[in-house]
Amino acid sequence: MSVFEHPSFDNHEKILFATDEATGLKAIIGVHSTASGPACGGCRMWSYPNSEAALTDALRLSQGMSYKNIMADLPIGGGKSVIMKPDGAFDRQALFEAFGRAVESLNGEYTTAEDVGVSPDDMMAVRRSTEHVVGLPEGKAASGDPSPVTADGVFRGIKVCAERGLGSRDLSGVKIAIQGAAGHVGSYLCGHLSRAGAELFITDINQDGLNRLKDEYGATIVGLDEIYDQDVEIFAPCALGAVINPDTIDRIKAKIIAGAANNQLATREMGAEVQKRGKLYAPDYVLNAGGIINVMGEISGDFNPEWVKGKLDGLEVTLAEILDQSESEGRPSNIIADEIARQRIEEKRAKKVAEVA
Ligand code: NAD
Repeated sequence: MSVFEHPSFDNHEKILFATDEATGLKAIIGVHSTASGPACGGCRMWSYPNSEAALTDALRLSQGMSYKNIMADLPIGGGKSVIMKPDGAFDRQALFEAFGRAVESLNGEYTTAEDVGVSPDDMMAVRRSTEHVVGLPEGKAASGDPSPVTADGVFRGIKVCAERGLGSRDLSGVKIAIQGAAGHVGSYLCGHLSRAGAELFITDINQDGLNRLKDEYGATIVGLDEIYDQDVEIFAPCALGAVINPDTIDRIKAKIIAGAANNQLATREMGAEVQKRGKLYAPDYVLNAGGIINVMGEISGDFNPEWVKGKLDGLEVTLAEILDQSESEGRPSNIIADEIARQRIEEKRAKKVAEVA
């Protein structure tokens, strides 16, 4: 398995491979950049087929966090961790305590939080081993589950997209397909969209969750693969990454692609393919920054909902600027966002180096 030669390696500052035989922990922590401050980003637990797949996720996700944090103008760098979910039964508390020890070994260079497959309670187990954890359900300045705020940011961003792609921010009667609708973010997003009058088409592997959303919002349940073929105006990927790929792009009828999932584009080049087809893509790490913004309130030790709200207003402005630049320059929105993020990180890095010198 290559690391420095890995296609997703982007001069990450540190990559920690952590194992603990007693608990079955196999984790990778990627610290992409600390140019803006200590790295922060969630921990994902997933049944990866092999360590190569876990490494790819850790590399891409931690780079994405650097971009996300700098675009939201937060004083933190980018990092992310993945845990390879053990096969069979395992002691969850002990596993997350062991993961906490790995986080602790980085001496504050990385602060963790929850991501897919990980709950606020898991973070309480991590807290027994390290202080460098946020997204806790209790304690001083606890910000709790970041998902509602992520969903709020995605909802706001969808309206920014609708204004440009559909001619109005009004979502009443607009058809929207939501992938991963029963998830933490997806279910809150369904609530926002339904209250705004949108017609929902939902899918998930969690059938009970889907049934609840159907009862609550009158949403139409569609099959896992059928979600791509829906005759909708907006497609909101809120499950896992790489769902915009050569196999799906021509099936997606939506004019707008805007959702919470990280790394929605299978490759950077897919951004150009989306644009070629006259579709509008909201760069994921700009749109889904609500959670880390919320978590930032906890890192600062002084959680302030008004500050969070102001940052979400800023998210809308940033997204609008990217989409407008993309349109005026005729270049893909993901490339514009990446360029802005890289430039800002480089400026922070140069400033940090100058201060040390
Ligand atoms: P989650 O695990 O609660 O939700 C994901 C949902 O997707 C689950 O309901 C799961 O059953 C479903 N799913 C899995 N595979 C699927 C498939 N093949 N087709 C359809 N549905 C499938 O996770 P979440 O916290 O809601 O996060 C969702 C996405 O948003 C992830 O990509 C995550 O990285 C990203 N994100 C989340 C936050 C946050 O605050 N939670 C913040 C930023 C980004």
